[in-house]
Order: sequence, then structure tokens, then C-alpha cells
Amino acid sequence: MTGLVVGSSNAKVGIVEAIEVLRQGGSALDAVVAGIALVEANPEDHSVGYAGLPNLLGEVELDASIMSGSNLAAGAVGALQGYQDAIALARRVMEELPHVFVVGAGANRLAAELGFPPTDLLTPEAERIWRSRLDADGATSPGQRAFTARVRDLVRRVSSDPELPKAAPEPHGTVNVIARDRHGDLACGVSTSGWAWKYPGRLGDSPIIGAGNYADNRWGAAACTGRGEMAQRCCTAHSVVTFMRFGMGLEEALRTAMADLTAIDDPYASEINIVAMDKDGNHAGASTSKGKTYVVMREDMETYEEPRRLLVPFSNG
Ligand code: ASP
Repeated sequence: MTGLVVGSSNAKVGIVEAIEVLRQGGSALDAVVAGIALVEANPEDHSVGYAGLPNLLGEVELDASIMSGSNLAAGAVGALQGYQDAIALARRVMEELPHVFVVGAGANRLAAELGFPPTDLLTPEAERIWRSRLDADGATSPGQRAFTARVRDLVRRVSSDPELPKAAPEPHGTVNVIARDRHGDLACGVSTSGWAWKYPGRLGDSPIIGAGNYADNRWGAAACTGRGEMAQRCCTAHSVVTFMRFGMGLEEALRTAMADLTAIDDPYASEINIVAMDKDGNHAGASTSKGKTYVVMREDMETYEEPRRLLVPFSNG
């Protein structure tokens, strides 16, 4: 079977490497980790790994998850600080612990124990973007209000539209990579610095198996980007795979999962995007926003293609 990789558009920096892993006979899990690692290392991408935008307190917190479609094994880390390789750590959780999900101090501790290289994730550019919203109304000046009340208020105000912050063009996002290897095994990975200016410790859909990530060789795989609080409530990635299980084609499964989101009454609703692959290697993407793309590459291609996603506005529900 020909190896195949599909990802969110920011996965283009890692997709060729992911395909090379499959060409060398590597597994779908190997390809997902190799592809996402390059996105996590990309200083131009302020939504994932190194140079990711920080939480409200200026701390970069990374979330990642990985799922193996052959045996439904999964691993995830959340609110990881001081280590760039979130997807590799999620894989180690899956393979070396009797757990699926490790967060916060535990995730930091595990990275240290396993000898992951510590990294200062906050770059000057990411810090400048972070400050640009806080300084605008003097919000960082001390002593104005009780600090915790101020933090909650700030989270609501400065992060209300995670997809289109005024500070810079689209500094928010997540990377999705789905791979199918020569054995037909599927793997799905998601990595993110989450919602910029988030409340410290906030987890989105990305590290939650079923919400932002799901893979099952028997039906297919799906992964999300966008407002995680919506995908969390509709278990969107799992829904796409389940709809295929119950007979829908890929496109219908995507449209139905997107339509489900319209039942949520969410004052912060912004954007949701999904990439998906069925068990036969058919692939598609969907978005609530116009003009969105995803990337795809097969082993026999020299470079990736960037097809359009289906447009499914929230109002379609
Ligand atoms: N889904 C991510 C989260 O909610 C963010 C994004 O993809 O924009 O953390």
C-alpha cells in the first residue's frame, strides 16, 4: 500500500519528512511524530511548539496527542512548559506509561525524566505579540483590581476571537497530521500552544482523544483545529470517524460533524476546521471559514498538494 500523509496547512513544513519516513518503511506513528516535530521547531509558527503564543501570564503551555489506529493506543500531554517536543512526549506517554493523558507539572517531570532537552519556548516575537494586547489598555499595571478577577476578565476580553487576533495575522492555530503507512495502519497527531492569552492551565480539544484527535484503522481518522471548546463539547474528531463507521462517506461525515457544532450556544464561537482520511486513503478537509486549505502527499509524489477544504459555515446547521 502507498504511504499517504494529510495535514493542516501549517504541516507543509513537515509533510515531506513524514513521507520520507514512510518511504523508508517507517510506521504511521513514526511519520506523524517526524512531521509534527518540524512544525514544533518552526519559529515562524506561533501556534505550535517553540515560538508558540503564551497564556495570559506569558507562559507558553503546549498540548499534544497521538493515536494509533491499529490498536486504539493513545497518548497525550497538556499544559507542558519548558519542552518543545510535545508530540514525542505524547508518544512516550502512550508507549511507556499505563496512562493516556499527563498534564502540567507531571508532563514537565516526565519530559525531564526521559531526558528531553529543556527549551525556552517564548521567543521575542511571540512575547511582542502577547504584550501587544495586554499593553493596549494598561492591563498589566499592578494593583488595579484583585489579580485573579483581573485575569478572568482579561481572558474573556483579549482572547475572545482566537482565530483573528488584531495583534498579527492568524497567530493562532494547531497542527494536525494523519498518516497511513505501507501496512495500511493509520496514526493521527495534533500539537498546539493552544488558545493565545488563555487562562493558565486551560486545555483545548487538541490533547483530548475524541475531541481534537481520533484514529481507527477500521473506519478512518480525523483531527481538528480552531475553537477547541466547541470540538470538546461535540467530540468532533470521534464523531467524524463514527459517522463513517455507520455508513457515511467522508464528505457527509465531515458535514454532519460540522453541523452538530451549530447546536452549541457559544458566545466565543469562531472557527472550526477538520482534516480527515477514511480507511481507503480518501481525504478531505472542512472549515467554517472561506478559503481554507489542507495539505496532502503520497509516497509517489515529489511534493505536496494543497486542496481546498469544504466550506461549512456554522449557519448551515
Ligand atoms: N484547537 C486549538 C485549541 O483550542 C486551537 C486552534 O487550533 O486554533 O487549543
